[in-house]
Amino acid sequence: MVKVRDKSSGFRRPSAGAVRKSIKDGPKGGGGPPLFNLPDGMGQFEIKKPGIFKLNLVPYGVMERNHPERVQRKSLWYRRMIRVHRPAGGGSIVCPSSVDSMRKCLWCKAFFKLKKELEEGNEELNAEEMRERLKPFSGQPWDLFYVLDPKDNETVMLYATSYGKFGKALKNYIELPQNKKHALFFETNKDGRTIKGQFNEKTFQKSKFIECTAILAMLPREPLNDDKIIGQTVCLSKIPNVLDDETLKKMFYQTDEDDSKPDSEEKVSTGKKKKFKKKDKSMAKPKKSDKKKSSKVEKKSTKKVKKAAKPEPKKGTKKKGKKSDEEE
Ligand SMILES: [Zn+2]
Repeated sequence: MVKVRDKSSGFRRPSAGAVRKSIKDGPKGGGGPPLFNLPDGMGQFEIKKPGIFKLNLVPYGVMERNHPERVQRKSLWYRRMIRVHRPAGGGSIVCPSSVDSMRKCLWCKAFFKLKKELEEGNEELNAEEMRERLKPFSGQPWDLFYVLDPKDNETVMLYATSYGKFGKALKNYIELPQNKKHALFFETNKDGRTIKGQFNEKTFQKSKFIECTAILAMLPREPLNDDKIIGQTVCLSKIPNVLDDETLKKMFYQTDEDDSKPDSEEKVSTGKKKKFKKKDKSMAKPKKSDKKKSSKVEKKSTKKVKKAAKPEPKKGTKKKGKKSDEEE
């Protein structure tokens, strides 16, 4: 993201770092378009070297109707899953259908078409060969989280990472029966935990990266200020930079250079503070204002939501939800 320092004649001034990156990347734009649109002033968390690190994941309020894990709108949750494709021309893009179920994705479509052809074809391919052939179209699962800035425990940052680099270790840890008590690790109340993780350097096809190989412990942490922390977040479904169909088509077919790239930057507001209900039974009921539009969808998903929603109703955690006018 190009940092905005001040404005001149209505235009944003770029930072020296952004220009240097552009020069380094060259005319082809090695990195491609940014994967994420961060809210103004928000930084991105990254672990760049191996070692043992402490992470504090924090919740956000789900404001979308079709969360991939069927978490109900206006509930607190800890992550948003997306898929990332690597177009043949270089760079990475967010799979549009992984963010908006109404959008189609050329890579996913090609993936399933080719998979079917390979499965039904005469070639005898083993799993490895199959993966290799499908690679140009396959999508890598990513998780988006919010974490506290390690240098300042009151500031929220985005932590976007492929599932293999963190989410998998988290799953392995929480799945153990003895760690069930840590399942609400992202909570702002006493259930919240500081995650202690082991991060190692790995190499895959000559490129080095840092991966969380194990969660070592989940340590108790002081309760956090709900309003202050959640107030800094926006629904994670707003963070991915989903390109428009025209641009994606050009990237997929590698047609002419991108000269008509529209400004797809979506304005995300951080100013308004919103309160979200903790998970409790009342969440299963559609709100009056939602009823007309989505009662069907919400009813249908209620069952699964309850199952997926780890947070159990607890005495003393019930809060009055403030009505929000934010719509998807
Ligand atoms: Zn896709």
